[in-house]
Amino acid sequence: MKSAEIRDAFLNYFASKGHSIVPSSSLVPGNDPTLLFTNAGMNQFKDVFLGGEQRDYSRATSSQRCVRAGGKHNDLENVGYTARHHTFFEMLGNFSFGDYFKRDAIAFAWEFLTGVLKLPPERLWITVHVSDDEAADIWLKEVGVSAERFSRLDEDNFWQMGDTGPCGPSSEIFYDHGTDVPGGPPGSENDDLDRYIEIWNLVFMQYERQSSGELKPLPNPSIDTGMGLERIAAVMQGVHTNYEIDLFQHLLKAAAAATGASDLENKSLRVIADHIRSSAFLISDGVLPSNEGRGYVLRRIIRRAIRHGHQLGQSQAFFHTLVAALAEVMGDAYPELKERQSQIAKVLLAEEEQFAKTLDKGMAVLEEALGALSGRQIPGEVVFTLYDTYGFPVDLTADIARERELTIDHSGYEAAMEAQRQRARAAGNFKVDYTQAALDVPATVFSGYTELNADSQVLAILRDGA
Ligand code: ATP
Ligand code: MG
Ligand code: MG
Ligand code: MG
Repeated sequence: MKSAEIRDAFLNYFASKGHSIVPSSSLVPGNDPTLLFTNAGMNQFKDVFLGGEQRDYSRATSSQRCVRAGGKHNDLENVGYTARHHTFFEMLGNFSFGDYFKRDAIAFAWEFLTGVLKLPPERLWITVHVSDDEAADIWLKEVGVSAERFSRLDEDNFWQMGDTGPCGPSSEIFYDHGTDVPGGPPGSENDDLDRYIEIWNLVFMQYERQSSGELKPLPNPSIDTGMGLERIAAVMQGVHTNYEIDLFQHLLKAAAAATGASDLENKSLRVIADHIRSSAFLISDGVLPSNEGRGYVLRRIIRRAIRHGHQLGQSQAFFHTLVAALAEVMGDAYPELKERQSQIAKVLLAEEEQFAKTLDKGMAVLEEALGALSGRQIPGEVVFTLYDTYGFPVDLTADIARERELTIDHSGYEAAMEAQRQRARAAGNFKVDYTQAALDVPATVFSGYTELNADSQVLAILRDGA
């Protein structure tokens, strides 16, 4: 089954069970200052769960575009290192707002996986929260899953959207990719090694986490589920990593052609294929590269991708050309990608041209520093110079360091930054402070393509049209 067919099968299955099909919301959460980017299907229903908003349906299903590159759920550092994490992915979900609860949520999930998708039950592994006897009984006694493929976990089976907001115990479904992949079942020491990959999380929404940390019961116990489309596509297509699915193969081939790389399993190529999706969708949803807030997260993602292209030997602008390949594979599901294709490409090209002015020189500075290095840590002064003079976001330098089994001196970097602030203050300068400790908190309220903190060059492109 192609990714697009799985998406349709999911939405149609839940529509047949009385769920309204709701379109994906924007990656930029409307009116939610607690959230950097949309990180789950339930985000657009947050106020419905909390009881503050009514809809004319009590069951919904969606395929939600998500970005996890900051905030509570941040997978940026996992990309290229695991088989299953992306910065951008699609989350298939079904939701009940005070309608059905655990029993139906579990029955639907099981029927969809084993009945519709015809997955063999002996490949599935189930987890529930340590305290959740009710869910355990439903799985073991009603559905009849084997106690040998079942475990009770603690933190891993309690889901929350952010530091505050809706949350509750959960039950997760894993797929066993087989003995030729190393790794142990959920809850074992080696459960992070990607043999057993989490495909679906069923959250039993029961509480609201207050800013004091306290759990306040929700007015109506509800259901929120999320299944990664790319992960279930890997299962259905008989491959282990998400990068081997139809959609990613198309992007990887385009990225290989654009960079001159030939090995489709190359890590840098995978990072580029991942990052073109988050970059293009963020721009399509109105985020522009800038030096603060959401725009800076976007800039970090784009520059990481450009640096990986550089690593593959491509010194010309290439990243923007991949928007066309992306529109080919995802433009039917997301027509706005096709409509905004040339604008998105122009924004990316502008960022590539800007970074090109300093990337080479910055890399030379870094190589020289590495040549003179005695320990395993890149000095904070170097990290700061790369950041301040050559436009290397700190996480980009950390990414290079990790490839070479080095670390960076964070506190030395902070000290160098502070020293510069003092100098600027003494000179009476008002220099923008764009460090904001990793920028995990959005600094500005989103205001679309007129976002004031965007670079003037980028704004000019958007003003003058595609
Ligand atoms: P993991 O433990 O693998 O990091 P998670 O527990 O953080 O996943 P959830 O927050 O439960 O994930 O999200 C629901 C589903 O969304 C997951 O079961 C998975 O299928 C998918 N998913 C989560 N994060 C990612 C990601 N970074 N890239 C692709 N799919 C993801
Ligand atoms: Mg995770
Ligand atoms: Mg998990
Ligand atoms: Mg999970």
